[in-house]
Amino acid sequence: MSATSPHGDPSVDFLPFTRPSIDEQTIAGVVEVLRSGWITTGPWNARFEQALSEYFGGRTVRAFSSGTVTMEIALRMMGVGPGDEVITTPLSWVATANVILAVGARPVFVDIDPRTRNLDAARVEAAVGERTRVLLPVHLAGLPCDLDALYALAQRHGLRVLEDAAQAIGSRWRGRRVGAFGDYASFSFHPNKNATSIEGGCLVLPPDADPALAERYRLQGVRRFGVDGMDVDLVGGKANLTDVAARVGWGQLQQVDAFNARRRELALAYFAHFDALGLEARGVLLPPRDETDSNWHMFQVVLPPQVPRADVMQALKQRGIGSGVHYPPIHLFSLYRKLGFAPGDFPHAERVGSGILTLPLFPDMRDADVPRVAQALSAVLRESGV
Ligand SMILES: *Cc1c(COP(=O)(O)O)cnc(C)c1O
Repeated sequence: MSATSPHGDPSVDFLPFTRPSIDEQTIAGVVEVLRSGWITTGPWNARFEQALSEYFGGRTVRAFSSGTVTMEIALRMMGVGPGDEVITTPLSWVATANVILAVGARPVFVDIDPRTRNLDAARVEAAVGERTRVLLPVHLAGLPCDLDALYALAQRHGLRVLEDAAQAIGSRWRGRRVGAFGDYASFSFHPNKNATSIEGGCLVLPPDADPALAERYRLQGVRRFGVDGMDVDLVGGKANLTDVAARVGWGQLQQVDAFNARRRELALAYFAHFDALGLEARGVLLPPRDETDSNWHMFQVVLPPQVPRADVMQALKQRGIGSGVHYPPIHLFSLYRKLGFAPGDFPHAERVGSGILTLPLFPDMRDADVPRVAQALSAVLRESGV
């Protein structure tokens, strides 16, 4: 046994930037599902959807096999397709824009507010045109977008809203839970998110949306009736959530508020340590701290432009600390350049995207990990002359 590791495994000393917390009750629950004889979509999927509905203030919720397919189905339910435009942010996981292309529509990017790193609501109006159908804001790192401004604008122009809330379970906007109000909201349960079902997602539906339509898009367009009747009237996919996954997701949902409270505690500790180290005065941008309603999905700093991020990541790794990049700007990927986007189009997203660095933050982190990361980052930056 190593002196530093209770498990005799030296790799446990490496601090990843995130790690899911799966409790023993959930593990036992999964074993029960596996033994039950029903392992794909069934009673646990229904129970998970019901629990999600309660979490989102009684709204209608359907679960899917990923956050990506959830958003794609939402766009299909709104009837978005070729000739339509969807306004979104260039600073997100590429899934956000890929689903717009997947339904045959065109993404229209609007630059971010460099402080919040979210879509700059003040710039959205200028991007609205004849073909605009949907606003697709992303609550990056769990920090809610300005939903007052975005919903007011949507109403003025007769647009639908699909909130990419993949990272925002448990976040609040003016005291109300994201997803508990508004139009469509899509969540992800990927293992990196604040609650996981291994892979999975869910869609909160507005009152005018038909949940049976969501179910048909989820499973081959199938509609069943009577004892033995079946019809197919649209092209659906294969996007159902297994009961094994739903059992994991249900167990996580019981804990997500506690997970988020622990994340907040750790985030506040990061601010205290970075303040003591004078990081902001040294040119490092910290996340906004005056907003109290983030679920702290990630704690991300933006490095000064002259600091090579790859070197910082390597140096942190040598000190046993993982870090991540979330995200390079979408419009600079080759697929999007082929559509006509180019460097310089969205300067704030480009600047933030080139310097952003995700630091370790997850509920099972120990208190002592925070000063360890803060001091390591400070020391590594000193080596770069910052
Ligand atoms: C994770 C994520 C998605 C996609 O979710 P998956 O479950 O991985 O398909 C979409 N948008 C954002 C912002 C995400 O973080």
